[in-house]
Amino acid sequence: MRSQAEDRRLFTVEGRAVSVQLKRSARRSVGLKINQNGLVVTVPTRFPLTELDGILHRKASWIISRLDAIAECQPTSPLAGDSQIEWLGEARSLALGFKRASVEADALHLTATVDEAIPQALEKLMRREARSFLAERLALWADRLDLQYSAFKLSSAGTRWGSCTAHGVIRLNWRLMQAPLGVLDYVVIHELCHLVELNHSPRFWDLVSNACPDWKQKREWLKHNGSRYFAW
Ligand SMILES: [Zn+2]
Repeated sequence: MRSQAEDRRLFTVEGRAVSVQLKRSARRSVGLKINQNGLVVTVPTRFPLTELDGILHRKASWIISRLDAIAECQPTSPLAGDSQIEWLGEARSLALGFKRASVEADALHLTATVDEAIPQALEKLMRREARSFLAERLALWADRLDLQYSAFKLSSAGTRWGSCTAHGVIRLNWRLMQAPLGVLDYVVIHELCHLVELNHSPRFWDLVSNACPDWKQKREWLKHNGSRYFAW
């Protein structure tokens, strides 16, 4: 049997990040297949990947509807040893059975040894990293915007990314560690601006806009992509 070069990358299909398992083969045409792990695309050996965007775009409605149909059939924890998870917007694979959990360049090393233990182990790692990383981003933006918050807390609220109380306590969801840095920063900025305006008035959005001119795109991005960060 011919060996196939294989890798996984993220593509944007109708505004949604789709993880694609890429296979090269001697075949002449591009093949698309959806299985439990997501979209599998087989391309001819010398196929230029720049053309893949166009193909995925043309097949977008089929891809999205099939992915949604499969997602509905998934058991409650969609994570397995060969799953991928996003870390600051980049796909990382999961590697099981480590003594100490860590974030590596290509993989998240987890202490879990069986698939069923992945969500808990992943949450533990993500919370640990979020505690310091989100605190850093918050301190950095508070400094840039010359704003002072009284405390930072990690939150695990249902589907909320962050909150800010009248006493200046800012909470940020640990699941944000999955989002691209620009999106994560938008949430940080959003909550910091609530220190000045504890509402969503035009004045509030002016403040946000000064610090993050493309906040609308970031907010839209979260609306369309955010739910998958809560899916496990
Ligand atoms: Zn708000």
